Amino acid sequence: MRQSIIAGNWKMNMTPSEAEKFIDEFLALDLDRKGEVVICPPFVDLYPLSKKLVDNPIKLGAQNVHTEDAGAFTGEVSVPMLKDLGVQYVIIGHSERREIFKESNDFINKKLLKLLSSNLVPILCLGESLEERQAGREFDLVKSQLLACLKDVDSDQVSNIVIAYEPIWAIGTGKSASSDDAETMCKFIRTEVEKLYPGQGQKIRILYGGSVKPATINELMAKENVDGALVGGASLKVEDFKELVSYEVNHD
Ligand code: PEP
Repeated sequence: MRQSIIAGNWKMNMTPSEAEKFIDEFLALDLDRKGEVVICPPFVDLYPLSKKLVDNPIKLGAQNVHTEDAGAFTGEVSVPMLKDLGVQYVIIGHSERREIFKESNDFINKKLLKLLSSNLVPILCLGESLEERQAGREFDLVKSQLLACLKDVDSDQVSNIVIAYEPIWAIGTGKSASSDDAETMCKFIRTEVEKLYPGQGQKIRILYGGSVKPATINELMAKENVDGALVGGASLKVEDFKELVSYEVNHD
């Protein structure tokens, strides 16, 4: 059994005071948490949230990391810094970092290897643009990202990675992929992982991300190959995030 994950990607939202207020309100709710819950706030919120989440099962994730441990990399944050704050997950390969900050598969692969060797869990984002989907190239594109990002990853490490399938056209647009389309791509990714690393396909956790909302979470989580969700906008609202982490388990 793969443990589910609902991860909130706050992107560049929430000041430290707002983050503290959010977590106070969230923890005061009657949560019916089904699997792992991860909050990925901006770097400046990690310290105050780490203080609030001592002895709490809610985990902290970062939205980025550098490949080096220290040095002349102005504006960057390293693995030892994140680990010192109790961070356990790091999002890498998000389409916003690929597009706006021109991060390549090669750089993402280096970050992935760094995280694995540091015992931090990478949440590796993959996904096609609308143009690529309309041209029928979504499977080829996702496969090429997967192959490039998994370069030099050993078989015994691959199940420590969490993959998030995030079609770019669904991110922040309110236009989610259907649960069937999410399932199809998550299954495809699992099959490709199994081909590359026999025996590991059923172990790796694969999330869907792109305009996930309380209204769509139950249908999504009922899909066999979808192990969770990476959520942007809806993770910023206390009530919505509560509903997302309390999704209904369908045993059919
Ligand atoms: C994201 O940024 O990873 C994301 C899925 O955003 P949203 O849920 O807002 O589409």
